[in-house]
Amino acid sequence: AANSVDHWKKTVCRYCGIGCGVMVGVKDGMAVAVKGDPQNSVNEGMLCVKGYHLADMLYAESRLKTPLIRKNGQLVESNWEEALDLIGNRFSEIRDTHGPDALGFYGSGQCSMDESYLYNKLFKGFIGTNNVEGNPRTCMASAVAGYVSTFGKDEPLGTYDDLNKADVFFFIGANPAEAHPIIWARVLERRKNAPNTKIIVCDPRETRSTDAADIKVIFKPNMDLALLNSMAYVMVKNGMHDRAFIDQHINFQEGSEGKSWEDYMSFLEDYAPEKVADEIGVPAALIEQVAKLFGDKNRETMSMWTMGLNQRSRGQWVNNLINGLHLITGKLCRPGSTPFSLTGQPSACGSVREVGALCHLLPAHRFVANEQHRKEIADIWGIPADRIQPKPGKPLMKMFQATVDEEIKGLWVMCTNPGQSLPNVNKYRKGMEKCFMVVSETFHPTRTTELADVVLPAALWCEKEGIYGNAERRTQHMAKAIDPPGGVKSDHWAILEVAKRMGYGDSFDYKSVEQVYEEYRRCTVGTGYDVAPFSRLKAERGVRWPVVGDGMGKEASIRYAAPYDPYVEQGIRFYGKPDGKAIVFLRPQADAAEKPSDEFPFVLTNGRLLEQWHTMTMTGTVPALKKIPEYYQSGQRWFVEMHEQDAQRLGITNGDNVRLTSAHGKLETRVVLNGRGRPQPGLLYMNFHDQNPAEMVNILVSDATDPVSHQPEYKISACKIEKV
Ligand code: SF4
Repeated sequence: AANSVDHWKKTVCRYCGIGCGVMVGVKDGMAVAVKGDPQNSVNEGMLCVKGYHLADMLYAESRLKTPLIRKNGQLVESNWEEALDLIGNRFSEIRDTHGPDALGFYGSGQCSMDESYLYNKLFKGFIGTNNVEGNPRTCMASAVAGYVSTFGKDEPLGTYDDLNKADVFFFIGANPAEAHPIIWARVLERRKNAPNTKIIVCDPRETRSTDAADIKVIFKPNMDLALLNSMAYVMVKNGMHDRAFIDQHINFQEGSEGKSWEDYMSFLEDYAPEKVADEIGVPAALIEQVAKLFGDKNRETMSMWTMGLNQRSRGQWVNNLINGLHLITGKLCRPGSTPFSLTGQPSACGSVREVGALCHLLPAHRFVANEQHRKEIADIWGIPADRIQPKPGKPLMKMFQATVDEEIKGLWVMCTNPGQSLPNVNKYRKGMEKCFMVVSETFHPTRTTELADVVLPAALWCEKEGIYGNAERRTQHMAKAIDPPGGVKSDHWAILEVAKRMGYGDSFDYKSVEQVYEEYRRCTVGTGYDVAPFSRLKAERGVRWPVVGDGMGKEASIRYAAPYDPYVEQGIRFYGKPDGKAIVFLRPQADAAEKPSDEFPFVLTNGRLLEQWHTMTMTGTVPALKKIPEYYQSGQRWFVEMHEQDAQRLGITNGDNVRLTSAHGKLETRVVLNGRGRPQPGLLYMNFHDQNPAEMVNILVSDATDPVSHQPEYKISACKIEKV
């Protein structure tokens, strides 16, 4: 195909948060080839199997090509004029009759930054509600809460450059071999080039990542707080902490109360490995070994984690602890040493965290509750400051509960699939049915479009221009390579059209993606989140913020440290905090919201596989990506993994049909033993790809949330399994 394309266009992968650079080959107006962008330092020309099949989904039979409107209970084909008029009228009527807070918006880390900026501005600045949420609430809100409470600002300190410098890779609550494959390839490459490199993977089950690790640590579900505190204990007892760094750059805190180094040491006494090893399920000697590698003063250490830590009712706490390990050892703010949270979606950082598209935020990580922040954004939006409500809107689960309770009467869902992806999903599907729900989607049916009142056919990936921001603070331009099919429009365009119909057209008279992005860029100047200009992003392979000097300065490979961060003249300064010091929190082990019981004796957890992505609306359209051994082994059905001992005890064998029951619902599926994932006894694992309405794992999953980050605890639900 490479020889027969008319031209290549530079873009970014549509799937995970790594943000691989992609070149799209176009012939006769069609995307006919895809290759990794060798000039993009994220992936250096590599792609995973999903990336190589990116173009296939564009031509899937299930592409939606015309708006749908529900009439007499059925979704029927309509046209843009009718659909947009209906949305404008219904949303205006709800706003005028029930007040702006009867409306809500649920966006996505897959929207582009310009799209997110627009819907955030429309709802918070003009309609007048802060009920704007995004699906990053389900994947990394706890990492946000961890960074902000520890450093005073969100997002990672380091970048992927650290992958080439680290000597110890510490993974916890992550399965990068499946979920972040290009990061994993680069970690393995580093070990090949620097054979002293050690890879540690901590997880409650054996995975392809633990298989390739130098050291695997299989800990009991939910015991990661104790594990990290125990590692801190070992490091301190062995003098691996950096006293000078601690004195200069750290405060200690328990809750909101200031603590001392001595308090911290005494807090750690409860976590001596010999005291907690049994509870954690890891031998004391192994905890010591891992801690000593992490804290080795002659090695650079990079930690990476994702949903295993974030999707928890104490997600913020465990994020604080991992940041704390780096702080007490001084292993951060230098090449190769950093805490680094991985993200699940291509622009969760750019389009939701940075643009401020969560219910408590405004652009560039400003807060709706902060008067000065509201004023600064209102000035840019050309509105009086009191048009922006000071009270945060409803966080995700409360927003969907409000649809069940009929407080929210109108909802716009864009580029995400809550009818499959919310925890305890059947409960909230009822709310989606009750309210007037607009869904912007590329494919139909999905578990969400089937509940909608209006479905808008959305342009996909290289059918539109846009900006994405990946997990390493890299803002990247995506070129439009081809036209969308007739009748399909970009979400950017649809937002402007709805704004016009609601009477806000004068403030949404944008002519280009560049104009919207440049307005967002004005919001970032001087905040520490300063992004590069559009023209620079078009010319380069992305730029990592903060960049100063009209956005033309050097990109920041490391934050809070000179000479890498333009906001720091000398040494290290955590400038998100008033005194420039980061906080090490004393966070004890705590129970999950649900514990195994006589009725539900197993812990159910979940995740995803290399070949598929999230709820499979995109990857599920590509036949090659269904060639998954375990999927075929179970008769082309999705499955639950369990330990052989548990299976034997319950008389279950490989391939058996089983029923899973939790406090939230039940489903039937098949068992796979000794597949690529091998849970420890007492643990069950499913992926969340299964689109069958009777088999979606989220039927079973707890909707408890972290009290600060409001992120749901997807990773731990009490459950029962029986042979049927
Ligand atoms: Fe890269 Fe992730 Fe896309 Fe795979 S899915 S090509 S790892 S960005």
